[in-house]
Amino acid sequence: MSTQTLTSGGGASSGASTRTSFLPVVATVFALLVFALDSATRINIAVAVLYVAVVLMSASFCGWRGILVVSATCMVLTLISFFVVHGVNYDSTAAGRCIVSLAANAITTFLAVRMRLASEALQRTQEQLTEAQKLARMGSFSLRTGGDMINWSEEAARICGFGSELEVPLQAVMERVHPEDLLHVRATFGPALEGEASFDHVNRLLLPDGSIRHVRSVGHRVIDEDGKPAVMGAIMDITAARLAEDSLAEAQAELAHVTRVATLGELTASIAHEVNQPLAGIVTNGEAALRWMARDVPELDEVKRSIERMISDGRRASEVIKRLRNLSRKGSAQTLAVDINEVIEDALPLVQREISNHRVALELDLAGGLPSIQGDKVQLQQVVINLMVNAVQAMNQRPDGPRELIARSRLAGNEVCVAVQDSGPGIDANNEGRLFSAFFTTKPEGMGMGLSICRSIIDAHGGRIWASRNESLGATFQFALPIRRGDEP
Ligand code: ADP
Repeated sequence: MSTQTLTSGGGASSGASTRTSFLPVVATVFALLVFALDSATRINIAVAVLYVAVVLMSASFCGWRGILVVSATCMVLTLISFFVVHGVNYDSTAAGRCIVSLAANAITTFLAVRMRLASEALQRTQEQLTEAQKLARMGSFSLRTGGDMINWSEEAARICGFGSELEVPLQAVMERVHPEDLLHVRATFGPALEGEASFDHVNRLLLPDGSIRHVRSVGHRVIDEDGKPAVMGAIMDITAARLAEDSLAEAQAELAHVTRVATLGELTASIAHEVNQPLAGIVTNGEAALRWMARDVPELDEVKRSIERMISDGRRASEVIKRLRNLSRKGSAQTLAVDINEVIEDALPLVQREISNHRVALELDLAGGLPSIQGDKVQLQQVVINLMVNAVQAMNQRPDGPRELIARSRLAGNEVCVAVQDSGPGIDANNEGRLFSAFFTTKPEGMGMGLSICRSIIDAHGGRIWASRNESLGATFQFALPIRRGDEP
């Protein structure tokens, strides 16, 4: 629908209601005047032709049946006037004038009925369109290039929080854009409004009642009926979908947090050991320091060394606790530049004991000088810990087999890859397609959420995660993340 159609559609509806209240009266008075003139005078012109005006007027306030009734009435009045004035002894000129009047009336009626049917069909289509737009929460709009008035459908006006006006200043619409989105909206719409580009854009509106609406606008350049360049578009209210997406993301974050805490729960014994060891070191060194000091001649150098060891043990314990707290905290994702090797190294103290308790040999094969990736460090640590714990648990299923765990990082094209390789039983062909599905587990006490959460974390980082069987023994779980923009090699 063009700009013209939208504008005239709006104007016609309000103008029509005013006209329709007056027109029946005007048409009736006019018909009576024509009847009086036609019946009372003997002028030699076809006065009755004027009835066509009555028929045309009736087309504005009657349906097609009404027009036929008005037309038939006018024809009867024409004939009455004819017989009143000429009786039965009429001449052929008078009869000719009467026939011309009746013919004009008939032709006008035919055209008026056609026009009426066409306008009723158009109105029905417009009503369907309005209803469909309401149901789809989508409105249409158009704006002439360089113009400052925007024409839109009722639904577009409703979405933007306006009344039923079908034409509003562009400035008034821009004032409804959420202040935080304004710069972005200007940058997108500016060139489009000048007819340079098409657009597909999501932003928020801040309505006068303080509510926020999420909208998606799409549009492109068209040539309107006057041959002038214009922008034609559609605007969709996506608030409900956005809110659903937000609560889904919230639920996923909650789930990730719960599984993270559950994994830490599995590691409690190992982590407690990791903290206990430096604490025991502190006590031992403290006692040693006291002994060195209790000597007749205190050995201050030894005391100093003992205190240094105490400080370093204290730091070790507090580092483990800090990492533990970071992982168990429930916060929203923080997207920063992340060094993937640091993620692996920071995760190690929390799984180290689990690895050595199960007599697993760990090999770290980390590539140096890797570009950073964009992401949330805690979430990525969760993935690494999950893969390592799974690998240890898998190898634990084979009491006699070799127990080798390799954590590798590599640069592969525009991605940074992390692989966790084990020498466990490998992946059963039947399970291959289900490993990352929620609640899939082969462990008697497994939850089956670990890999599914890993996948949603890696997906949210724009990466991929997959598993493969090793050529010899075991399985390798890998994920690849895109390099941070600007850090590409
Ligand atoms: P859970 O550990 O609770 O079972 P996960 O989603 O972490 O849940 O793992 C799902 C399943 O994937 C495991 O039960 C196991 O069958 C399989 N799996 C995961 N890691 C490995 C691995 N390294 N080697 C073999 N199978 C694995």
